[in-house]
Amino acid sequence: MTTSIIGFPRIGENRELKFNTEKYWRNEITEDDLQTAAKDLRAKHWQLLKYAGIDEIPSNDFSFFDTTLDTAYLFNIVPDAVKQLNLSQLDRYFALARGYQGDKGDIKALPMKKWFNTNYHYLVPQFYEDTDIKLSDTKIFDEYQEAKDAGIQTRPVIVGPFTLLSLSEFHDSKPEAFVDKLVAAYQGVFEKLAAQGAEWIQLDEPELVKDVIGESYDLFKKVYQDLLKNKAGLKVLIQTYFGDVRDVYEDLIDLPVEGIGLDFHEGRKTLELVKSGFPDDKILYAGVVNGKNIWRNHYEDTINLLKSLPVKNLVISTSCSLLHVPFTIENEEFPEEIKQHFAFAKEKLSELVELQAILDGKDKDAEARNKKLFEKPRVTENPKVHERVAALNDDSFVRHPSLEQRAEIQKKEFNLPLLPTTTIGSFPQTKEVKRTRAQFRKHEISQEEYDKFIAGHIDEWLKWQEDIGLDVLVHGEFERNDMVEYFGQNLEGYLFSKNGWVQSYGTRGVKPPIIWGDVARDKPITVKWSKYAQSKTDKLVKGMLTGPVTILNWSFPREDISQRESTIQIALAIQDEVLDLEKNGIKIIQIDEAALREKLPLRKTDWYSEYLDWAVPAFRLVHSKVKPTTQIHTHMCYSEFTDIIPAIQNMDADVISFEASRSNLEILDALQQEHFKLQVGPGVYDIHSPRIPSVDEIKNTIHKIIEKVPEGKVWINPDCGLKTRGVKEAKASVENLTQAAKEVRAEV
Ligand code: GLN
Ligand code: ZN
Repeated sequence: MTTSIIGFPRIGENRELKFNTEKYWRNEITEDDLQTAAKDLRAKHWQLLKYAGIDEIPSNDFSFFDTTLDTAYLFNIVPDAVKQLNLSQLDRYFALARGYQGDKGDIKALPMKKWFNTNYHYLVPQFYEDTDIKLSDTKIFDEYQEAKDAGIQTRPVIVGPFTLLSLSEFHDSKPEAFVDKLVAAYQGVFEKLAAQGAEWIQLDEPELVKDVIGESYDLFKKVYQDLLKNKAGLKVLIQTYFGDVRDVYEDLIDLPVEGIGLDFHEGRKTLELVKSGFPDDKILYAGVVNGKNIWRNHYEDTINLLKSLPVKNLVISTSCSLLHVPFTIENEEFPEEIKQHFAFAKEKLSELVELQAILDGKDKDAEARNKKLFEKPRVTENPKVHERVAALNDDSFVRHPSLEQRAEIQKKEFNLPLLPTTTIGSFPQTKEVKRTRAQFRKHEISQEEYDKFIAGHIDEWLKWQEDIGLDVLVHGEFERNDMVEYFGQNLEGYLFSKNGWVQSYGTRGVKPPIIWGDVARDKPITVKWSKYAQSKTDKLVKGMLTGPVTILNWSFPREDISQRESTIQIALAIQDEVLDLEKNGIKIIQIDEAALREKLPLRKTDWYSEYLDWAVPAFRLVHSKVKPTTQIHTHMCYSEFTDIIPAIQNMDADVISFEASRSNLEILDALQQEHFKLQVGPGVYDIHSPRIPSVDEIKNTIHKIIEKVPEGKVWINPDCGLKTRGVKEAKASVENLTQAAKEVRAEV
């Protein structure tokens, strides 16, 4: 029995890669300095894997930004405009990742998208008719050699051709047109690596866990049929993750490859598939240690699972790259009784090695130690929460009266003008705001001083909102660092790591909170500042909350209860908050579900049964008890929900705002066709850019909106919160927005 992993976090134990790369970008260190730092980091990680006892070690899982970009770069899939910039190999790479604006030219960054169902982002390769695929980078070879010189035989990793083609964007061209050249280029890589002495190559093909049907299936067949005709003597591992490969399992096990990597955590059907038969002449890389979550592996279950597999050649591996978990638990300050339940990347290596030893009959202690961890509940249980969940019935998830009736009631109650204007919640988080919050956190300023500061900001921004004539105001969220962390810190059942960074994109990381126990709210969280703001103005001030699905999706979830159950607990806690806001005179409450769209299952066929069927009711639970006169808003960051419009409607909010301007308002057609019932606020300008939209431009957009959606149902607002914007541009843009709304109102 052997051990392996799919990939290791590259940012470093103390985010060394981030800090060095950013220094390089700021011209504080040279390219040589950066290359040396990167090399040291790679060496450290390979040694770490080796000393942990991992038998098969990957290379080229390192990246300065993103491995999909690395792969595109390797194959010369680089837009001409970027090639024409007279830049070094490394700077051209960074130009693709971040754009370039300087004396050599001005180009935009490649688009960035979420990597499958994770919070990691990849850069989207762009194919044009004249894209000339050929080997044009040496990173994969250099890194293989680097490890080899250090005495470590590695298995180079690269994004596989099927996934690469499936994730790319094609301009005036189709994937099929590039298959021959791409296949030849991959074969070129095989040849070179084989000549260097490599034995294996790992082709990452997570795309295979999606619905691989129709054209997609044909593409997969074609690519692999051709590719495997010439492997240059290398052994090939096709590595999948994030789900199961039910559409192509039979094809996969028939391919002339030596290894197949399958995910036993997220792949619900993986076990069933393998049990249906696995060839003796292939190795199964069994992803049994969860690469996406931070809980200790249950050895007994894993051993039983592995023993039940009718497989002759087995390698124990992780379910996906360890990129998605933090580096090590060693630097955390949790008490030992909590810490013992967690395994970050480094600890997962020991888990693999212990599992191997147990299977080989060499480590009885490890099994016993592990067993003890699972004897008692791992988390703090809260009987009150259990009682509340048990008492829920169907009606708990339904708001009365109906949406239409509420709309009538609220119309009379609020008497808002046509095309009411509002913003999404946050105002610019200036350096001063961030600094003051940090000072308060470190007890450098008193509660009183801090409160005075926040109140001052709220006053100032309320006054501005009144002056420019916004209809529904917000308090500005100055007291919040992050829309999930803020709630986590104020809820029971949450833990926060000190150094638990996970790469989100490039040098940016997130530190997801950990759901440690039953989630409950013991005191109001947002009431103080919402109530304060409402007391300062005669206009309506929106209460501002984060929804349960988003809170769960941006945390490390529990494994001992289902995500549904966890979400219901969070929903009940937020429900308390909603009712407290209502009790304190807040008449409009926005419950953001920024991340609801993002965790849709990878297979369309699973969307409802696996996710929406509980995520949508969880949202309804949050607001089901409010009075008919209380207006519930929700906000989503993506407009790409044309395909789940019935589900969005089912959330039964009164108003929804969403990003629309960047996607050319495409969603409006869908809303029109489906006779969308909710009031809508399609963002009228893009807040992700510092550009200030003119009054005419916004009027134009509003006209486009009311062509498709009845004007009585339309709200006018920006795309998203303004917290990342500068004060000047934020104010100018919103002023133009209110002006545009006024002018259109006068016309219709
Ligand atoms: N209310 C939040 C804000 O304005 C919403 C953020 C988001 O959707 N990501 O910042
Ligand atoms: Zn948003």
